[in-house]
Amino acid sequence: MPLRLVFLGPPASGKGTQGRRIAEEHHLVYLSTGALLRQAVRDGTDLGAAARESLDRGEYVPDEVMIPLVLAWVRQQKGGWLLDGFPRSVPQANALLAELGQDKVVAMILEVSDEELRRRVACRLECVVCHRVETEGSGVICPSCGGELQARADDSAGRFENRLAEYREKVLPLVPFFQSFGLARIVDGHGTPDEVFARVRQHVAEIRRS
Ligand code: AMP
Repeated sequence: MPLRLVFLGPPASGKGTQGRRIAEEHHLVYLSTGALLRQAVRDGTDLGAAARESLDRGEYVPDEVMIPLVLAWVRQQKGGWLLDGFPRSVPQANALLAELGQDKVVAMILEVSDEELRRRVACRLECVVCHRVETEGSGVICPSCGGELQARADDSAGRFENRLAEYREKVLPLVPFFQSFGLARIVDGHGTPDEVFARVRQHVAEIRRS
């Protein structure tokens, strides 16, 4: 059965970094809903117009926008996939499970202390082309694709706190939600990217065997 994973975690917990690595290793089609929305805003599309205000305020984009967008993507997938940043609410999670029916999905939930998140967000940069995440001091050019590395507007202090509050209110209830279906894996997100990746890998190996 193809592997289907959703990566959940507070802002700067490493979902993008870890999600990309695991997707590459297991040949999964990867979608970051946050990166998709930021690109839509830059491109000035209808989706960008619908998402802009929420992103500007560090608030979540409404379910009415997100659910049809992501379900349309899921329907196009024939093999394994990984969603980074979806679902982010109980209605989104219900819609995803209803769409998948008998097909299994596992939620990988990264846990990181608020103190560590604040430290990370103060120094992270994102490639405007391939969305790879780097830390300040790594230069202004993406080592993967040569694109420009920039600080994310929604990482500014006030917006970050809003995003953290949104996470607590809307995403944390998804932990017991996925646990109630036996579909949750909690990962300690502290440590270096390699240390966290070793933990994620271990979970994925177990999921593969189950
Ligand atoms: P991320 O790059 O995952 O941190 O997402 C950045 C921002 O995109 C979030 O703070 C939300 O405003 C928006 N976003 C991404 N995914 C979702 C989602 N599933 N539901 C609502 N808003 C989302």
